[in-house]
Amino acid sequence: MPKEGIHPKYANIHVKCACGNVFETRSTNKGDIVVEICAQCHPFFTGKQKLVDTAGRVERFRRKVANADAGKAATAAKAETAKAAAK
Ligand SMILES: [Zn+2]
Repeated sequence: MPKEGIHPKYANIHVKCACGNVFETRSTNKGDIVVEICAQCHPFFTGKQKLVDTAGRVERFRRKVANADAGKAATAAKAETAKAAAK
């Protein structure tokens, strides 16, 4: 038996994947774990070519870049206005 009081709780938890797969494992992690890719849907295990973006990571990145560009354009416009006002 492990020594009392020095080990983290090692409990049964569920790991949920973005593909819908759920499996049980044991972990010291509190609560369930949510992952974006697992052995059921990773191309290495399925042997099929596919876009690994089940959880919409590419879409999230594109949105982030679009927001950054919009912010840059607004800053540039503001600078132009300031320059015009200074003349
Ligand atoms: Zn999966």
